[in-house]
Amino acid sequence: MIGFENVTILTPERTIDGGALLVRDGRIRALGRRDAVELPAGAQRIDGQGNLLVPGFIELQINGGFGMDFTERPETIWPVAERLPAYGVTSFLPTVITNPMATFQQAIEVIQAGEPVNFRGARPLGLHIEGPFLNQGKKGAHNPAYIRPPDLEATATWSRDNGVRLVTLAPEQPGAIELIRALVARGVVVSAGHSLATYEQAEQAFSAGVTYGTHLYNAQPPLDHRKPGLSAALLTDPGVVFGMIVDGVHVHPAMVDLAWKAKGPDGITLVTDAMAALGMPPGTYPLGDHEVVVDGTSAWLADHSSLAGSILTHDSALRNLMAFTGCTLGEALLTLTRTPARVLGLTDRGRMASGAIADLVLLSPDGRVLMTVAAGEVVYNAGR
Ligand code: ZN
Repeated sequence: MIGFENVTILTPERTIDGGALLVRDGRIRALGRRDAVELPAGAQRIDGQGNLLVPGFIELQINGGFGMDFTERPETIWPVAERLPAYGVTSFLPTVITNPMATFQQAIEVIQAGEPVNFRGARPLGLHIEGPFLNQGKKGAHNPAYIRPPDLEATATWSRDNGVRLVTLAPEQPGAIELIRALVARGVVVSAGHSLATYEQAEQAFSAGVTYGTHLYNAQPPLDHRKPGLSAALLTDPGVVFGMIVDGVHVHPAMVDLAWKAKGPDGITLVTDAMAALGMPPGTYPLGDHEVVVDGTSAWLADHSSLAGSILTHDSALRNLMAFTGCTLGEALLTLTRTPARVLGLTDRGRMASGAIADLVLLSPDGRVLMTVAAGEVVYNAGR
């Protein structure tokens, strides 16, 4: 049982100064002004020193970190999950990229096996499978040898119940519409990405059940006023949400601002697309079966032909979004909390409410992670 005191609680609807919040049995049990929340004598008291208490971050696209790559070794999902709370992440979709089909099955089995004994960290909510049904013309850092046409039979086991939560595919490929319908029927969120879809093809995909777009602008045709393409469809359709990599490298700040003005916080999720070099010094790291060269700010394929994921952290993405758009911290936070929860159909994460899972971040007013609580347990403390 944890009792937070002297915190500023940010909910989308209101800001509670001088607040308190009670966590018991992994859930938020009460929150409000200090005098309105009873903190039982047995609760561990945490003095927030006036800092912000916000929902834990939900990351929909991350390939690995700390020298580990989920595609190369799916079992590294767990050790990475233990370290993600340092960035405020309390739940995430480990992302496995284009590979032989057997690799996806291995990752599914890692998820199905469940948490290791005594696990403490961010919770994987299921896999994001990015590929292999992509467009060769927008392969990015995916290995073209394993990119293939959509295949109903090969994906027969992909379902939410089996641990597949989100699939990125190129909806213009032959057979993609049938695959979209089949995956959506099995509870999987389907995203358009690594795609050369026209505006019209994108709208057909949305009608078939695509509700998300993978890293807006990246691995999509550029915005063109005569051929608007997938990016324009994602920017203008109110029924879809997209991820965006706001590291200042993948997308120019002005294009981030354009996306913000088009969709706002309910239509955008910040994703890092971070790879093995996250949290590591510059050097050479794996991404799938590529070698990736990482400098202080970005990750590139060795021949510099393509960006290859990022080394962006979640708290710096928040600060970048505020800098590039002029939005408030409260607005920026929605793109890491309420909006990704909505994409996944979650009602008990991503919000500050009694009964919600106690995934919390204590954040300084300038957006630095001080402490992270996952499922009611303190899993990161910057002061320690
Ligand atoms: Zn990608």
